[in-house]
Amino acid sequence: MTTSGAELLDLKDGDTEKFPEIDDLASRLKFSPSTGHIWLDDRRMILMHTPSIGALRRELIETLGLEEARALLTRTGYASGASDAELAAKVRADMKVFDAFSVGPQLHALEGIVKVECQAFDVDVERGKFYAEYLWFDSFEDEVHINEFGIGADPVCWMQIGYATGYSTVFMGRPILFREVECRSMGHQRCLIIGRPAEEWEDAEEDLKYFRAHAFANRSPKTRKDGDAESVPATPQLAEQHPSRWDMVGASAGFNVACHMLERVAGTDATVLFLGESGVGKEMFARNLHRISKRKDEPFIAVNCAAIPENLVEAELFGVEKGAFTGATASKPGRFERAEGGTLFLDEVGTLAPSAQGKLLRALQEGEVERVGDTRVRSVDVRVVAATNVDLKNAVKAGEFREDLFFRLNVFPIHILPLRERKADIPLLLNHFLNKFRRLHGQAVTGFSERAIAALLNYHWPGNIRELENMVERGVILAASEGVIDICHLFTSGERIDSSILAISKTGSLDRSSETSGLEAVLGAEGVAGSSGNVIDDILQSDLRFDELEDRLLNAAVDKADGNLSEAARLLGITRPQLAYRLKKRQG
Ligand SMILES: [Zn+2]
Repeated sequence: MTTSGAELLDLKDGDTEKFPEIDDLASRLKFSPSTGHIWLDDRRMILMHTPSIGALRRELIETLGLEEARALLTRTGYASGASDAELAAKVRADMKVFDAFSVGPQLHALEGIVKVECQAFDVDVERGKFYAEYLWFDSFEDEVHINEFGIGADPVCWMQIGYATGYSTVFMGRPILFREVECRSMGHQRCLIIGRPAEEWEDAEEDLKYFRAHAFANRSPKTRKDGDAESVPATPQLAEQHPSRWDMVGASAGFNVACHMLERVAGTDATVLFLGESGVGKEMFARNLHRISKRKDEPFIAVNCAAIPENLVEAELFGVEKGAFTGATASKPGRFERAEGGTLFLDEVGTLAPSAQGKLLRALQEGEVERVGDTRVRSVDVRVVAATNVDLKNAVKAGEFREDLFFRLNVFPIHILPLRERKADIPLLLNHFLNKFRRLHGQAVTGFSERAIAALLNYHWPGNIRELENMVERGVILAASEGVIDICHLFTSGERIDSSILAISKTGSLDRSSETSGLEAVLGAEGVAGSSGNVIDDILQSDLRFDELEDRLLNAAVDKADGNLSEAARLLGITRPQLAYRLKKRQG
């Protein structure tokens, strides 16, 4: 991807832009019959028979109904497209926008889905400008659909439109929506698809509903009270008109599964336990659970158990009677009593002290609480929702957490995946927080640079959504107004970016798609770029021998990682055993 960004192809009728050679993609498709694998780069693929997909499709339509089946297949396609977009950032980082973007349509052909031709392409990643038209010839989905159902009135290439939408959304770092305006299943010669930023389609909601597992996502309480049965659009840009703190942003399979489970359990009074690393948004899920439950008009009380001093936890949760201890000058109800009729959210429940665990168990089992210093038992009607980022089973084994309480809390566990395992959500979240902080800070930043998007997709996100939110806020503040957010505005606290996005171009020069990648961090910016900007040339012109170069590289990495070999290996893009082997070989 070039840094210039803008690209306009003005094609006359019947003209098509040629895609680049496909060798760089085809060479990443590997068949390994001895191990039972097919790999596309590092993703496992399978070959399936189109008639069996056709049968599956038919069963889905007949059991779920047309709309639900369409939505499910669209989302499946979205996930594939999002995954392939990560490959584009890796393989064609140094090519112009049209060629880099063509990874999607070319992979679609390579994967046997459909033959694609480009009709129009007017794209500027940094300005968020996107207009594209493609023709689909001999689409597999039309073939199986026509076989089963014949010609009809609506477009049916659902997985494929999901793919195009997921691919371009991740590629652009903002929601792009493709629509199939002509389809072979409607009697046309071939299918025609058009892609635009989601907010530029006037009636985007018609299509967007298929990308959303659940209508409640992004539906603000206000629109619910207004009796608005139609849900508010899922795309953050459209949701902007309905700002609320309830926003649930995501399109990945993992996110959708969590939403399905949330909706399933919301109407009951079951205790729910959210599991996941810190920063994944457990409290947001808990708030949404309350919002769509029958207790929604009663209080939602959130408590972070880890944030309350141990000696005050019981008083906080269960209340205190005047004179119970020094400082208890007045009687005070606890969070349980304050949540009466509603939902009590206990975050980091694994940190509760043993005595508090016992009282919590009683509250769950009997629906009764006792204030500290009181003998009176008060009954409460509270739904308890808890969250933890530690493995409670291990805590039980270690004797730190009551087993009976664990079983009581673990009635309906919901896992929320870390961000690195649902990368398809990253562009939606970026866009959501970009809009939020643009408004908050009155900044007119236009978006993210291409290399920033590539770096964000490759980052491993130890702090999850909270980290992403902080990073975007920092980016909005640091970037020039009306400029774009680049890598230097995002990664300012010494975060490590995966060295795999530092690609070597055809000329052998290291493409500076990431200014702070691991390898570069080892060599230092000067070492990589050199005066000529070409590290290979610089090394060849020096007197360094290869083993000396390796020596220096290994030493630098180990130093940089303060002697931590795993970290040093990561910086070098090799495994720890590989690094250990090289170090040993050098000593011997
Ligand atoms: Zn079609």
